Amino acid sequence: MAKRDYYDVLGVSKDASTDEIKKAYRKNAIKYHPDKNPGDKAAEEKFKEAAEAYEVLSSAEKKRRYDQFGHAANAAGANGGGHGGGGMNMEDIFSQFGDIFGGGGGSPFDSFFGGGQSGRGGRRVVRGSNLRIKVKLILEEISLGAEKKIRVNKQVVCKTCDGSGAKDRSSFNSCNTCAGSGTVHRVTNTILGQMQTSSTCPTCNGEGTQITSKCTDCQGDGVVRGEETISINIPAGVSEGMQLSMSGKGNAAPRGGVPGDLIILIEEIPHDALKREGNNVIFDLHVSFIDAALGASVEIPTIDGKAKIKIDPGTQGGKILRLKGKGVPEVNSYHRGDQLIYVNIWTPKALSEAERATLEKLQDSPNFKPQPGKNEKSFFDKMKEYFE
Ligand SMILES: [Zn+2]
Ligand SMILES: [Zn+2]
Repeated sequence: MAKRDYYDVLGVSKDASTDEIKKAYRKNAIKYHPDKNPGDKAAEEKFKEAAEAYEVLSSAEKKRRYDQFGHAANAAGANGGGHGGGGMNMEDIFSQFGDIFGGGGGSPFDSFFGGGQSGRGGRRVVRGSNLRIKVKLILEEISLGAEKKIRVNKQVVCKTCDGSGAKDRSSFNSCNTCAGSGTVHRVTNTILGQMQTSSTCPTCNGEGTQITSKCTDCQGDGVVRGEETISINIPAGVSEGMQLSMSGKGNAAPRGGVPGDLIILIEEIPHDALKREGNNVIFDLHVSFIDAALGASVEIPTIDGKAKIKIDPGTQGGKILRLKGKGVPEVNSYHRGDQLIYVNIWTPKALSEAERATLEKLQDSPNFKPQPGKNEKSFFDKMKEYFE
C-alpha cells in the first residue's frame, strides 16, 4: 500500500507552523488512540500513521528532507532514527507523548502514561545551572590571547558530605520505593493487552537515593555557596560580545549531579590610541606640515609596542599607510589583520612674530600653492582601497 502524504495524514498545509503540526497531531492521536477505539484495527493504523507523520514533520531536518525527496528520504534511515520506512512501534509513539501533552497537564492519557512521564528514564541526572561572567580585556590581551585567573562566586560541592547531602554513610541509602533505579513501573490492563508504563519515582524524585539524616552544612543539598578561582584561556582574536563556554565549570549540581557550564562574555576595554576595526587596527597620526614637506621618521604605538615609520617628503594629508600583519589575529587562524595609519597634517594654531614673518616670505612661492594632480586619489578612493 502506498504511503499517504504526511501533510494529508495530519490535515495541515505544507507551510504549517510547528505549532499547527503539533496541534494537528494531538487531535489525531486523541481521535485514533487505541484506548478509545478498542479492537479497531483501522483506527490503530491511523494512530500509527499520524505518529509517523508527526515524527518526520516535527523535526526540521527530517521535514526538510521529506519536502525534498518524499517518503524515500527518511526510509533510508540516514538519520539513524531507524524507523522511517518501517513505521513506528507503540513504545516509540508513547514516548513522544511527554512532548506533545506537556507532562500530563490534564491530558486524557494521564492514567495511561503515569503522569506524562515517558518510561525511558532510569535515574534522573540533576544538572547544575550555568554561570555567566564578564571578562574585560585590553587590546594587547586580545591580540596575544590571555590566560585570566578569575575568582567566581558559585555553588560548590559541600566538602563535609562530599556532595552526598547525607550526614554520614549510614544515612545515605538506596531508595526503598524504586530500589535505587529512580523509576517506578506500573502495569495497566488495556484492551490491547497489558501495558507497562514507567514514571519518575515520587519518593526520591528520580535520584534513586534517600537520605535519612541530612548534612548540617548544606541542609542535604550537597552544594554550598563558595568561591573558585578559575583559569580561563582566552584565544587571540576574540571580540566584544563574543561568548566562550567552559563545560562543567558552572554551578555544582545537588547531590552528585553534573555541574553546569561557565559562560564567559568578552568585553573590550578601549585603547587610548588605537582603534579596532574588525581585525585591523587604526591609528590617527598627526605630523607637522614641515615634517610632511621635508619627510621625517616618527614613532607610533602598535599592539606589539612602539614602532618607527617613515614619512616621505611631500606626503599629503589623508594618506593611509599600512603596517602589514600588525593588526589583531583572526580567532583560530594564523592570519593577522593590519595596522592602518591615517596621516593628518597639523597646522599651527598660534604663531610668534618671527614664525609669521618666515611663513609670509614663503606664502607667494608657487610650491606652496595647492596643485592636486590628476593622479591624486580622492578620500573616497582611499577608503575603498583600504577597507574593502
Ligand atoms: Zn553537605
Ligand atoms: Zn526512588
